[in-house]
Amino acid sequence: MGIDIKSVNKRFGGFEALRDVNLSVAPGEFLALLGPSGSGKTTLLRIIAGLEFADEGQVLFDGHDVSERSVRDRHVGFVFQHYALFKHITVAKNIAFGLEVRPRASRPSRQDIDERVQRLLQLVQLPGLGGRYPSQLSGGQRQRVALARALAIEPKVLLLDEPFGALDAKVRKELRRWLRKLHDEMGITTVFVTHDQEEALEIADRVVVMSKGVIEQVGPAQEVYDQPATPFVYDFLGNTN
Ligand code: ADP
Repeated sequence: MGIDIKSVNKRFGGFEALRDVNLSVAPGEFLALLGPSGSGKTTLLRIIAGLEFADEGQVLFDGHDVSERSVRDRHVGFVFQHYALFKHITVAKNIAFGLEVRPRASRPSRQDIDERVQRLLQLVQLPGLGGRYPSQLSGGQRQRVALARALAIEPKVLLLDEPFGALDAKVRKELRRWLRKLHDEMGITTVFVTHDQEEALEIADRVVVMSKGVIEQVGPAQEVYDQPATPFVYDFLGNTN
């Protein structure tokens, strides 16, 4: 599923958090939104997700406006850094949650849900852990459960906001390689927010560099690093090396 972001503006009070943002994400692409803290990455991701609305402009999923509830409910999976799992239910029930809450007519059968959960546990390499509670898992395992939960609804678009930000460097690296591999196998259109240039370079097909609510540069990851288009991009990438 492709995403078109058209002339999006967003203000909080008098503050312009996003200014005339235009961006297209191709079906199956892995895109990173990169920029320093406060540059508008999360705001843009939340607008793509339909969790927040633009003051002006539009977000279209294959031509359908994300403000239509059915579009985002059916097609969008999220993983956020602090999108905590439900602590009082098991890993399996956490993963099944997005399916269990569906109206009866569109809810898979009990057996189908159980089978899907088992497949997802295999996919995120946590077989046999469905009966555990989140507190019994490591941080990296918990984020893999969060990913399995997002994937359970079989989304066409996956949105991730610093999903590995709270984890240590080694686990982060492992998880991002694994996420990229998973993406390549499944072909889900993916938008990944990070302030870490190494992470963006390693994981994404294309990188969008943002500063102060404006897109400074969009391009294939290596090209953005080799040919920064603006002084900001040059400084941002250079200074964090
Ligand atoms: P990033 O994800 O790049 O760190 P954000 O999108 O979170 O940036 O924030 C961009 C700017 O918008 C920041 O200056 C932030 O303080 C402001 N902002 C974000 N959300 C709100 C809000 N709900 N109310 C007021 N200001 C906000």
